[in-house]
Amino acid sequence: MKPFTFKATTHRVTRAGLGAPVGSAVMEDLIDQPGPVEIRTVAADWEVPLSGVVNIKHPKAVQAGLKDGPEAIKIYAHVVRHPTHGVFLVDTGVSRQFVKDPAGEGVGWVLRKFQAIDKMKAHESTAEIIQAEGALAGVFMTHLHLDHVSGLPDIPKDVPIYTGADEAEAQLFLNLFAQGTTNNLLDGRPPLQELQFTKDPDGRFEGVNDVFGDGSFFAILTPGHTTGHLSFVARTPAGPELLTGDVSHTRWGWENDVEPGTFLAERQPSIDSLLKLKALSKRHPNMTVKLGHQP
Ligand SMILES: [Zn+2]
Repeated sequence: MKPFTFKATTHRVTRAGLGAPVGSAVMEDLIDQPGPVEIRTVAADWEVPLSGVVNIKHPKAVQAGLKDGPEAIKIYAHVVRHPTHGVFLVDTGVSRQFVKDPAGEGVGWVLRKFQAIDKMKAHESTAEIIQAEGALAGVFMTHLHLDHVSGLPDIPKDVPIYTGADEAEAQLFLNLFAQGTTNNLLDGRPPLQELQFTKDPDGRFEGVNDVFGDGSFFAILTPGHTTGHLSFVARTPAGPELLTGDVSHTRWGWENDVEPGTFLAERQPSIDSLLKLKALSKRHPNMTVKLGHQP
């Protein structure tokens, strides 16, 4: 146990009523077959320090001459449409109300001061996504950081929210400031539903979950950035699609096997999760890879 660490949220949690753990071999035997899940990715604009999203002290970053400074990034919401289970989001995008009046939406002053919420620019807000796509059957969270829950004000309070196991417990000093905000954004909502994972019998991942039970959409436990961080693989008509979440925020980090910088809870698990997803994408060259915050 590290000193001065705090839960991401004290919101109630429960076991998810969806999904079951499977071995990674089950997933990997299936994912190159076209599947029924359609994904539409919606991007908003934001800006963060490069040193947060890439480890600029990594020898490769030093060699490439990367210097700290403002880095243009995206905030993504992925619309996941399943033919019988309905429409879901992976992460929540950006609510215009959240950007206009973060205090009114319950964002604490420390985050308002240091997270540059005013630089978030939604082109299609979460409310507009829902209007275009229809009512949501649920939201899958890669993790509970501010730039991933920034669409929550637009999401009806009864929509189930799914996270990784122990994500609410993810402990990070930043949570001292973020916990109240995350609690406010979750206030009045049902308990977070934790997808269940068991150690991957095939040894490639920390755990894999067959979310709809039909081999069309998988959650992969990829800890490091946060304890319960999730990545997702969907079988689409055009082939497998990987949503890495913040295992890799940036294109440069993904291409150079360099993990995020200061924006992570634990470095070694972060590196491990990045290399495991890179290896997955190499075993399935047809896979479309969508990174956490850059195209
Ligand atoms: Zn993020």
